[in-house]
Amino acid sequence: IPSLRLRGVERRYREGDHYLEVLRSANLAIQAGEVVALIAPSGAGKSTLLHVAGLLEKPDAGEVYIGGVAAGSLDDAGRTRMRRMQIGFVYQFHHLLPEFTAEENIMMPQMIRGLDRKIAAERSRELLAYMKLAERASHRPSELSGGEQQRVAIARAVANAPKLLLADEPTGNLDPKTAHYVFDALQALVRASGLAALIATHNLDIADRMDRRITLQDGKIEEI
Ligand code: ADP
Ligand code: ADP
Repeated sequence: IPSLRLRGVERRYREGDHYLEVLRSANLAIQAGEVVALIAPSGAGKSTLLHVAGLLEKPDAGEVYIGGVAAGSLDDAGRTRMRRMQIGFVYQFHHLLPEFTAEENIMMPQMIRGLDRKIAAERSRELLAYMKLAERASHRPSELSGGEQQRVAIARAVANAPKLLLADEPTGNLDPKTAHYVFDALQALVRASGLAALIATHNLDIADRMDRRITLQDGKIEEI
């Protein structure tokens, strides 16, 4: 069973008196442990694809399956639960909470899910150690470098052990050397935890190191 599957997904936006067809019959399957690059020019629909795959937007037609379960078969509460439990998000800008330490930021999604504080703190420290940030656990985001902030954001995204990681330009705000270091940490974490990852990037060097590359062509997904 793929961790993420899109079948015949369509998404259109109303533009005055007509519709802009951003996704037209988009099909995709990503298996556990696979890291897939999404490369396409601005406006091609990358964010739309990530939002639909991440259950933040509903498709106008077609179906999104997470771990074989059709999101369309769930009510809104069920979809929200599925998003919180099964999907992690990383953005270009880290969106860490500035008042909280690195460890507390990683605890947050686990506490929202209802995990015991001690268990959440332990898992956070494990993830920080994995990201080679053990000594930064009690630092606030403003006290961390850009690369360190992104590594905390990645740890937070996987804190609830999701099936799928969706990332929109996760290294877009970093210098090339830091971008490589952060991507390597992300890829190692994805592989070690048997996650599937879909990563939109303009960095072709980094895309080359992923397992597969896809693009959006006239609203359809093509392997490149
Ligand atoms: P990308 O991430 O590849 O730059 P997007 O998915 O953001 O592309 O956008 C694809 C197209 O859909 C663009 O032309 C954009 O203007 C349009 N679009 C995106 N979101 C909306 C929206 N909520 N309402 C109307 N048009 C949108
Ligand atoms: P910055 O954003 O300031 O470049 P990073 O987040 O990339 O910092 O690095 C944080 C920690 O990771 C530092 O202790 C640094 O020594 C280490 N580090 C950074 N890049 C590499 C690398 N390419 N190989 C090994 N360690 C690295």
